[in-house]
Amino acid sequence: MAFNNMEEFITNLPKAELHIHIEGTLSSEMILKIVTRNKIDFPYKSVKEINKALAMRIPGLKGFLDHHYLVVSIIQTQADFYEITYELLRKCKENNIVYIEIFFDPQFHTTREIPFETVINGIHQGRLDGSGTFGVEANLIMCINRERSVESAFEMLAQARPHRDKIIGIGLDSYEEKNPPRKFAEVYLRAQEDGYRFTAHCDVDQVNSVEHIWECLDILKVDRIDHGINSIEDPKLMKELKRRNICMTTCPIWRSTDPEPQDIRRIKNIYEFGLLVTLNTDDPAEFDSGYLTNLLMEVQEKSDYSKFDIVHFMKNAFEGSWLSRSAKDDYIKSLLDYAAVHGVNMA
Ligand SMILES: [Zn+2]
Repeated sequence: MAFNNMEEFITNLPKAELHIHIEGTLSSEMILKIVTRNKIDFPYKSVKEINKALAMRIPGLKGFLDHHYLVVSIIQTQADFYEITYELLRKCKENNIVYIEIFFDPQFHTTREIPFETVINGIHQGRLDGSGTFGVEANLIMCINRERSVESAFEMLAQARPHRDKIIGIGLDSYEEKNPPRKFAEVYLRAQEDGYRFTAHCDVDQVNSVEHIWECLDILKVDRIDHGINSIEDPKLMKELKRRNICMTTCPIWRSTDPEPQDIRRIKNIYEFGLLVTLNTDDPAEFDSGYLTNLLMEVQEKSDYSKFDIVHFMKNAFEGSWLSRSAKDDYIKSLLDYAAVHGVNMA
């Protein structure tokens, strides 16, 4: 009976993704294409060399980011931003992702002398055309690079103001060490006046991770935390996350050397505690986990989740999204209809 097949169930499941960086979606083929088009002197000359460099990078957040920014620096023109966004929406279609919220990092580009307009116009148009072609709804989240100055973050906010209608929310990412959330208290306060939604990365196992999550709640006033799984170490924090119904976008990604998806045990504990936790791919081109269907299949198997659990995670994603109440309800209804047809009762 095909309908009892978990692989087919996950493949066709209507999905939402809330934690994915546009700069982390460049396939090796796309990198080579852009490098050639822009005539860039890049250290790796073939898909094979690019793949090898990816596999050899140093483990941990810093090793990941150092390699990530080397690759991202090849993006230069509006056509580049357009193409990578359009391609991401094609990937969404392949993965049956019907709704996606996409991070982008303007400061990394503007400090390379690329105008903010080039970044936002390319991504925005790629999103519009991709949505039209592939039938995927997408919103954009602008991230503050936390290792940069508060002044630089304010400057980005000002640059974004004429494009306010293209951006749904503000996030915080990049090198977390020595850059706690409280550093950007005033920026978030100012962004509140512009009406943005708020999230922030609290990467896994950083120095003062738990303290950082508290700061996101109490100082930045976020309604979402990206990663944040160290909250499991503080029972009071867990209760508070539940009380405020904070959505946590976890990323059980893996590299070829990992025996299983990262952090799946802690994620399961958080899920069983009843938090609004979601499963996401973070930087799908930079990890072996890849895109959402593949990630969900492996996590389901390794964590022994039922179809009910997988639908529950996806319901959390629609619930934790920044869509309007009525749009959330429509997506959730489709999801629950899908579940019911496959014998999964979510009531
Ligand atoms: Zn991330």
